[in-house]
Amino acid sequence: MQPIHVIGGGLAGSEAAWQIAARGVPVVIHEMRPVRATAAHKTEGLAELVCSNSFRSDDAATNAVGLLHAEMRRLGSLVMRAADANQVPAGGALAVDRDAFSAAVTAALEGHPLIEIYREEIDGLPPDDWDNVIVATGPLTSAAMAEAVRNITGEKALAFFDAIAPIVHRDSIDMSVAWAQSRYDKSGPGGSGADYLNCPLDRDQYEAFVDALIAAEKVAFHDWEAATPYFDGCLPVEVMAERGRDSLRWGPMKPVGLTDPHRPEQRPYAVVQLRQDNRLGTLFNMVGFQTKMKHAEQVRVFRTIPGLEKAEFARLGGIHRNTFLDAPRLLDPTLRLKAMPRLRFAGQITGCEGYVESAAVGLLAGLFAAAERHGEPASPPPPTTAHGALLGHITGGHLGADYATIDAGPRSFQPMNVNFGLFPPLTRSVVKLPGGGRLRGTAKTMARKQALSARALANLDVWRGA
Ligand code: FAD
Repeated sequence: MQPIHVIGGGLAGSEAAWQIAARGVPVVIHEMRPVRATAAHKTEGLAELVCSNSFRSDDAATNAVGLLHAEMRRLGSLVMRAADANQVPAGGALAVDRDAFSAAVTAALEGHPLIEIYREEIDGLPPDDWDNVIVATGPLTSAAMAEAVRNITGEKALAFFDAIAPIVHRDSIDMSVAWAQSRYDKSGPGGSGADYLNCPLDRDQYEAFVDALIAAEKVAFHDWEAATPYFDGCLPVEVMAERGRDSLRWGPMKPVGLTDPHRPEQRPYAVVQLRQDNRLGTLFNMVGFQTKMKHAEQVRVFRTIPGLEKAEFARLGGIHRNTFLDAPRLLDPTLRLKAMPRLRFAGQITGCEGYVESAAVGLLAGLFAAAERHGEPASPPPPTTAHGALLGHITGGHLGADYATIDAGPRSFQPMNVNFGLFPPLTRSVVKLPGGGRLRGTAKTMARKQALSARALANLDVWRGA
């Protein structure tokens, strides 16, 4: 049987290859690292996590990404298996030891008899005799590949910016000032309710910190970059500070659910949280502190945070470009490029956002490609599932079949994390109480999410069975 070629061994490509091989089809992965580097990857491991080590909430009942985790586990995901096996404590979130996670994915793929891995850049359109190809080259797709795709789609690849947060050595954090506690003492699997390190700021310290962030020297943009927007879920900390003096106190520095044991009588005005980054517990990342400040400025400004005066940084923050397709216009419902159906796209380049979402779209691309190789129809998951909802966002299913024929002018498609807003609404009321009363406020929202999740998992099982 002819192999399926997967270009890019990141989150999406690794998962796609695994799913294809699991269906008895040979796969060749083409990964350009270490022959050619990207601006963010640091290793040659497959499925490297380039910034945070978190897969976000693992709560399948009330959180859309937690639901996506649950669905992926049911679909035999390699990424979820490796994540579960390499967890580090992170409250209700699923966070992993990044090196152990990547090593587990790499070992599983290298050890599979149907998978071959070539370390090479594919620097143009794949050869004509590759009849079934998955392009999973990610937000940092090499320039030559981006150019080749642009040539066939006729589209300008849209770029926008994401930023990454610094990582600190734990033994350089002053624990006579900082303390360990999860917000509201929340504890996830293996956690203790004290999974985060917290650095408190009083009002004067906070105001001075905001001033320092705004004044600090930033990495300069090229002209063409100046008009490029940020992804709202990953704003640099200094951009948040510029949007309003209290933005950070309502965002990553909110002081709620935490009590400073060194000064229990004094509620902190703001708090910087750090989350464990490796299994050993020697590295912690600054939660929500992605930044485009120059490296020396980061060290100077972050060392004004109480508890971090002597912080040693294992990695400083940075910015990166994100390349993605106008997928609703360019891709068919099974992620194939309409203009060249032998090419199927997966991962962040399709316009999903996040590690988990990228892996989930890789999983779907793998299922579709394997079905095609077996001569079977590739049936997309129901839109009521997290996978289906995400696929609908990407392929424009939610916009109706006519979307592809509409000339909508400038593209409006934007990358997105999975969220319950992408799911079709419930058809029956879940907010009525047995006595005739109605749920309200948070209880109502929770009941809706639980019902959406239960419907998703039930529908996924039916689809999986079929
Ligand atoms: P990747 O994981 O990047 O995999 C693509 C692979 O393709 C890479 O290994 C690359 O080397 C290879 N490649 C590229 N071009 C070629 C070529 N021509 N030939 C062969 N190989 C090629 N998401 C989060 O959930 N949390 C975060 O904190 C987060 N931070 C991010 C920070 C940065 C700097 C970036 C760039 C992205 C971040 N993301 C984050 C977004 C996204 O989830 C990740 O980029 C994710 O890794 C995307 O998965 P992917 O498989 O699509 O791409």
